[in-house]
Amino acid sequence: MASLTLKNIKKVYSGNVTAVQDFNLEIEDKEFIVLVGPSGCGKSTTLRMIAGLEEITEGELYIEELLVNDVAPKDRDIAMVFQNYALYPHMTVYDNMAFGLKLRKTPKTEINRRVREAAKILDIEELLDRKPKALSGGQRQRVALGRAIVREPKVFLMDEPLSNLDAKLRVLMRTEIAKLHHKLQTTFIYVTHDQTEAMTMGDRIVVMKDGVIHQVDTPLNLYNYP
Ligand code: ADP
Ligand code: ADP
Repeated sequence: MASLTLKNIKKVYSGNVTAVQDFNLEIEDKEFIVLVGPSGCGKSTTLRMIAGLEEITEGELYIEELLVNDVAPKDRDIAMVFQNYALYPHMTVYDNMAFGLKLRKTPKTEINRRVREAAKILDIEELLDRKPKALSGGQRQRVALGRAIVREPKVFLMDEPLSNLDAKLRVLMRTEIAKLHHKLQTTFIYVTHDQTEAMTMGDRIVVMKDGVIHQVDTPLNLYNYP
């Protein structure tokens, strides 16, 4: 069953800027999709439309066969990890991870279970009482991932999650995210402008150019392209 279906998706921003058009894609359950392409080609806009953070101008977006064009972000069973982590500086790691669940009135014992489980998966159990400023870049990125994991979403969206890390850590976290995908067995959609990241992480790669899909294929097939 398709996890996500994008049909003729188009986004026109005010001022008549067409950011994305003719976007057609079926994403399989548990697939790791990488959206790659140069700055300004429409990657973030596509991801934000899937998350519900940006209105879809035309076309249809289905999550597990359900049309979600008009469904609020919080009701989409999707979690997004941002480039700048977006952690709350005054809250501990635990509370940062618990916050979204508290808003959703999740019972405390359930919050506790999910935070501890995510912390274990990400190897940040020792950091739960710290504030973000007492964490390294890689640790902050893990907390940001943790905040998404505790929601137990069907689909994970990541917008250049590693671009603020130094080169060495970026390579390490690439592997960590691949492992995470394997452990969670959910659909991942990962945005990057980094070709190497795309080639090493994606089951399938969607190459975007000027707001349209230029190519869609496995890394192996793309690599062998004439
Ligand atoms: P990418 O993520 O690939 O860098 P974006 O999706 O951010 O590309 O942007 C695609 C196009 O849409 C660009 O031309 C950009 O300038 C434009 N754009 C992005 N956000 C807005 C906005 N809020 N209002 C108007 N134009 C926007
Ligand atoms: P409240 O908003 O009611 O003060 P808390 O932040 O105290 O909620 O969290 C409630 C439960 O979450 C606590 O009983 C505890 O089990 C767990 N908890 C909170 N902070 C931490 C932490 N830093 N490490 C481990 N567990 C925590």
